Amino acid sequence: MTRRVDGHMARKRFGQNFLTDERVIAGIIAAFAPARGQNVVEIGPGLGALTRELLGHLGRLHVVELDRDLAAALPLRLMNEGELVVHQSDALKFDFRTLATGPHSLRVIGNLPYNISTPILFHLLTQSDVIADMTFMLQKEVVERMVAEPGTGDYGRLSVMLQYRCQVEWLLHVPPEAFSPPPKVDSAVVRLIPYATPRYTCNDESKLQHLLTTAFNMRRKTLRNAVKGLIPAEWLDEAGIDPGLRPEEVTVADWVALANRLATHESTETSPS
Ligand code: SAM
Repeated sequence: MTRRVDGHMARKRFGQNFLTDERVIAGIIAAFAPARGQNVVEIGPGLGALTRELLGHLGRLHVVELDRDLAAALPLRLMNEGELVVHQSDALKFDFRTLATGPHSLRVIGNLPYNISTPILFHLLTQSDVIADMTFMLQKEVVERMVAEPGTGDYGRLSVMLQYRCQVEWLLHVPPEAFSPPPKVDSAVVRLIPYATPRYTCNDESKLQHLLTTAFNMRRKTLRNAVKGLIPAEWLDEAGIDPGLRPEEVTVADWVALANRLATHESTETSPS
């Protein structure tokens, strides 16, 4: 059922669940710790629950909102609160580099529409050289996978793909009652800080993606069997990785090392002699 919130008919296709719990809003703002002069963009400001607080602390704020009605109404709602720069645009296509003032200069925050949260994360990671940090509200199950450690059931492709590029930190749990209309699932707030100096160097990300997809499709098998056909058993021995481990027990460092080995092998195989 569609619900009217603060005069606006919430649109399901845009993932519109608006934050209404003042304590949760204050908790997110405290964790984000905005300070005057910082360069911040909010994705999906909606009716402005976080935007109002952010503007108060920052004085100036960029927002990217897809819904034309909300984008048009927001400056009126937040008149006199500060300088709001509205980009009526799809965050999945938005070039965040245009807002940056240098390397790792842009802070990003958003209560993201759950149906497109993973594509937005990966879109932002392609621009992570200009991003200082990202704080997002997401479906709790997704955040559990993002922060998962090796050896746990939640550890998988998403954990490795994010953790090799960013420090990932769970901030807070948010129940459905904090929103209007309430979503069907629990939510959580997570912070990602892209490494300014890479912690792991991945030479070919597509190889890492392919390797992880192959391995985690067979997460019950041993590593040796899960990656058979891609990674010969002797590479595992050479890298000192136990072939009897399950894919979910392999560390981020070891996944990156295996992907690099695969990339080197394939480039020497295909390079002209
Ligand atoms: N920030 C508000 C809050 O916390 O109450 C709204 C959050 S609501 C979960 C998600 C917001 O993202 C909505 O305002 C929706 O219109 C907007 N949105 C949905 N898809 C988007 C996209 N592709 N690009 C930018 N904004 C989008």
